[in-house]
Amino acid sequence: MLRRTKIIATLGPSTDDPKMLDKIIQAGVDVVRLNFSHETPKIHQRRLDEARKCANAYGRPIGAIVDLQGPKIRIEGFSQGKIILNEGDQFILDATCPSDAGNQQRVGITYKQLPKDVQSADTLLLDDGRIVLKVEQVLDSQINCKVIVGGKLSNHKGINREGGGLSADALTDKDRADIATAAAMQVDYLAVSFPRSAEDIHDARELLQAAGGKAGIIAKIERAEALANYEEIIKASDAIMVARGDLGVEIGDANLPLAQKRLIKKARELNTVVITATQMMESMMENPIPTRAEVSDVANAVFDGTDAVMLSGETAAGEYPDKAVIAMNRVCCEAEKDPMVQKSRHRLEHQFERIDEAIAMASMYTANHLNISAIVALTESGSTPLWMSRINSGIPIFALSRHASTRSKVTLFRGVYPIEFDEFSKIDTLQANQVMINKLLKRAAISKGDLVIITKGVKGISGETNLMKIVCVDSEPKPSQD
Ligand code: PGA
Ligand code: MN
Repeated sequence: MLRRTKIIATLGPSTDDPKMLDKIIQAGVDVVRLNFSHETPKIHQRRLDEARKCANAYGRPIGAIVDLQGPKIRIEGFSQGKIILNEGDQFILDATCPSDAGNQQRVGITYKQLPKDVQSADTLLLDDGRIVLKVEQVLDSQINCKVIVGGKLSNHKGINREGGGLSADALTDKDRADIATAAAMQVDYLAVSFPRSAEDIHDARELLQAAGGKAGIIAKIERAEALANYEEIIKASDAIMVARGDLGVEIGDANLPLAQKRLIKKARELNTVVITATQMMESMMENPIPTRAEVSDVANAVFDGTDAVMLSGETAAGEYPDKAVIAMNRVCCEAEKDPMVQKSRHRLEHQFERIDEAIAMASMYTANHLNISAIVALTESGSTPLWMSRINSGIPIFALSRHASTRSKVTLFRGVYPIEFDEFSKIDTLQANQVMINKLLKRAAISKGDLVIITKGVKGISGETNLMKIVCVDSEPKPSQD
C-alpha cells in the first residue's frame, strides 16, 4: 500500500551522516525542510544537494522547503552557556546586556524593542513554554520578571508572550536575504514564519518573485493574530503549516487541538495544502520508539486530513532520525486504512469555476464510486492533482509531468505521486495513454484488468485539462481522437 500522507524531515547535524540521510530517505521522506533559524546558506545548500542526490539514486523526486527564521524573539547567550532558574527567582530580560554575557540575574534579548511591547502582569514564555516568567516591572530597556516555572535555560531560546501581540514585522532583514538564497536554491516551497496577515504573505511572494524564485509560499500559523485571520492567510498561500510550537505558546496548549482541526478543514476546503508540525515524535529525540500519545497525535492529524506530517528536531538533531521516519510511516499507513478518510463530501455544495477543476472533481467522484485502481493526471502546473487530492480517497493519484519543478512540488500533496513523463509532445495521444499505462505497470502500481482514469488537456498548456477517460489496462489501444 502506498502511504498518502507525506513526511517532511528537517535536515540538521544528525542527518549530515550520509548513511543516516540515506536511511531516512529510504524510509520514505517525501520533502526535506531547511531550517534557516540555524546555520549558513552554504550548509543548507550542501544538505539540499546531498538529499536530492540521494533521492535521485532511488529514482524519485524529493521536495524542499526553506523555512525562514522570521522575527522570532530570542534571548541572547549566557557566559556559561546555560543557567538553572528556580521558581520565585528574580530574572531580568535586558536589552543592554551584551550578547554572551548572560548570568543568573539577567540575559540579553535579540529584539531590543521588546520592553516597549510588554507591560507588568504579562506572562512571557521561554523555550516553547518550558519556562514561565511573570513581568513585574518594565524599565527603559529592562523587563524585570519573577520565575513562575523554572528549569534549565540555555542560549538563544525563544520568547513568546501569552496572547500574542508582539509588534515585530514578519520579514526581517535576514529573511529578505534568505528569500534571495531560497530563490537561487530553486526550492519548491518557502515557509514564512510568524505572518500576521495575507499582506505578509504577498510581501514574501513579491520578494521571492523579484529574486526569480518560483516556490510556493507556506504560511506558518503560529501567532494568535494569524489564527484570527486564518481564512485570508490561507487564500493568500499555497500551503499552511499548523506550527504548533509557537502557536501553542501563544494561544495556550489546550486550544491547539481544535485550532488544528479548523485549520486543516478550512485549508482543504479552499484547495490549499496543509502541514501539521512540531513535537509529533518529540520523545524520539532520545528514544527509539514513540510514546502512545505521539502515535495517537500522528494518526489524528491523518484523520483530520493533513497533507503532511513534519519532523523537526527528531530528524535534525535527534538520536534516531531513521526510526522516527519509520514510526511515522507505520502510523500514517495504518491510520489511512480508516474508511472515513477514504470518503468525501468535499465542496459538495460549491459551484466550480473552472473546467479543469470540474474534471478533477468528476474524476475523483468516479474513482471513489467505481472500482478504479489508479488515477493518472497529466499535468503542467500540478493544479489538477492538487484539486484531486483535496478529495478524501484511497486511490493513488499519479501526477505525470515533464517539468521537474512540478514533480517535486506535488511531493507535498496527500495521495499524489510524481512520475516523469516527457513523451506527450513526441507521440499521438493514443500512444501517450499506452506509454502512461506502461509506466504504471512497470512500477507495479496497476495490473492487467484494472480500470484507470486518465485526465489530460491540450498538449503542453497549463489550465487546459478538459478530458477524463476510463481505460481498462487489459484492452488493446483503440483508435480514437483523445
Ligand atoms: P519553528 O516553527 O520550528 O520554526 O519554530 C514551527 C512551530 O513553531 O511549531
Ligand atoms: Mn515557530
